[in-house]
Amino acid sequence: MSIAYLHDDQDMSDAWAPWFSHEYIAYFAVQSIGALMSLPAVSVMAGLRDAHKHWPAGPKHIDIFKESYQTHRRLDPLQTFDARKRNGDFALSAPSGKRIEPWKVFVLYSAEPDLYLDEDLLLHKNQAMAGGSHGWRHMHFKLLGATYGMAPQSFRIHRNLAGLAFDRGNPYWGWRYLARAGHYLADLGNPFHVKVMPGSFLLRNIFARRDLQRRVSALHQSYEIYVERRFREGFEPFREALTAGAAKGRDSATSPDARLNDYIRRAEKRHKKIFNGLLREFNGDLMDIFLKEDQSGASDAPTRAGRLAAQAAALLFGKDRPSSLTFLDDVTCDSLKDVGWMQGALLKDFTPL
Ligand SMILES: [Zn+2]
Repeated sequence: MSIAYLHDDQDMSDAWAPWFSHEYIAYFAVQSIGALMSLPAVSVMAGLRDAHKHWPAGPKHIDIFKESYQTHRRLDPLQTFDARKRNGDFALSAPSGKRIEPWKVFVLYSAEPDLYLDEDLLLHKNQAMAGGSHGWRHMHFKLLGATYGMAPQSFRIHRNLAGLAFDRGNPYWGWRYLARAGHYLADLGNPFHVKVMPGSFLLRNIFARRDLQRRVSALHQSYEIYVERRFREGFEPFREALTAGAAKGRDSATSPDARLNDYIRRAEKRHKKIFNGLLREFNGDLMDIFLKEDQSGASDAPTRAGRLAAQAAALLFGKDRPSSLTFLDDVTCDSLKDVGWMQGALLKDFTPL
């Protein structure tokens, strides 16, 4: 089986690019499931009326419909860090008469939970520990004996919403909710979403709490910038890890639920290697980029975040970077194999064979 890179797939419009990590993960997962790739197109429909009862959406969220698009710009994939920025603009309500293949729905909407869906909500008194409502819904970690974040529920609720949409004769939203479920499930395989810092780091820095959060967040963001850049440059080992994992998950009789705790524990274990490796190899420089943030107050938050991301990417991938990235590549491939497995196991439960 030969699998193209998402950004080379002629079947995927340029209006939808640049592509982000979640979309690459979803893309390699669906490509590994032949029965899903050959499912006929479904009609694009409006979402379930009562979906907000199951999942209240952030005040700025709109269900956009990427099936209807106009291309307005051509962004540089290596310089785009905000998943809201795409080459095209999209319809703000369900376009009539459009059809789309289920696998494309799963890819196109896999990054949706990182837009406005989970922003600016009041969910829990401790949500600041996860950086706000978005983090709360996308993370799940223990710190000093307490547990923070609800990502496992985020996954389950959307998987159930998908079932509900299929039952009610709305397969389009069935696949779209499943794309969101796949997002939260992939987040739970990301070491930085299930652990914030090694205990030793916490003990060493316990009296500098404000700085502590910013340091941890700098490493988390740097890691995600690294993963995304690898996908965009067509890094073969990531594709191999995901497709091999997804094929195994597809052929397994186990459900993602039965493996969830083990999956999270494995991701937790990978965290220390990445965290300490980034500290060791890039410590001063990566931190400096993000810790300087406060002094550049002029621009708005997304612009500032984009500028920091660009600087971090330049440091991680620049010609005179201090170290090889092999230590990150190896542990990330292990991680993506697990992530692929879970995506394959999730998708097979919804794909008629
Ligand atoms: Zn997320």
